[in-house]
Amino acid sequence: MTKKLIAGNWKMNGGLAANQALLNSILSGLRGPACDVAVCVPAPYFAQCQPLLAQGPVALGAQDVSAHETGAYTGEVSVAMLKDFGVRYAIVGHSERRQYHGENDALVASKAQRALAGGVTPIVCVGETLAEREANRTEEVVKRQLAAVIHLNGHCISEIVVAYEPVWAIGTGKTATPEQARDVHGVLRAQLKAATPHAQRVKILYGGSMNAGNAAQLLAQPDIDGGLIGGASLKAPDFLTIIASAA
Ligand code: PEP
Repeated sequence: MTKKLIAGNWKMNGGLAANQALLNSILSGLRGPACDVAVCVPAPYFAQCQPLLAQGPVALGAQDVSAHETGAYTGEVSVAMLKDFGVRYAIVGHSERRQYHGENDALVASKAQRALAGGVTPIVCVGETLAEREANRTEEVVKRQLAAVIHLNGHCISEIVVAYEPVWAIGTGKTATPEQARDVHGVLRAQLKAATPHAQRVKILYGGSMNAGNAAQLLAQPDIDGGLIGGASLKAPDFLTIIASAA
């Protein structure tokens, strides 16, 4: 069985003092975690977080990466820049980027490709809106989103991490039921199996209001290989409880 991965997504939260306090609490509360752990921090804090996390069990992650290698792309951060700060993971295609920054499936696939080429593991987010779920389009939507990434990255698709994040569950306090999550994870696993003989190696995380109270049940489902955690990753005791639930 592959180790589960618990990744925090700090989003646009934090500050020098708050980051230090949060990481100190997480690191001092971790007891040789039985799962992989990462925190995806805002890019300006890579330089602060890298030494705090060095040699520890928590990997550094980014919340996005440019699809371009280098050059005149104001505001973007390249995969080489991530590597300079020891970044291991980069979230791509988070629904907030799709929604507020107009990112489409093709761009998300290019970002995943660029991350892989640069030696950073993309955490590829897929998920349906409430309207799409109510129209019974969940499977079609998540398969379309993942298909774009498989199409461009077929040869190394077993190197990605996938995060199923129903848009209606992100930051809303509404969580997919374990059965709803399990069903979609099963669909994604089958799609990966059709693309690679190593599909079982791909971690499929659940994200969407996962918290200290519901993590254990979600993480016990087949094909749920970890969590992408927003709000609860900003509270050390909650994040530590989720990590313990993944053991
Ligand atoms: C996320 O931002 O990826 C997320 C899952 O957020 P939350 O846990 O706050 O719903």
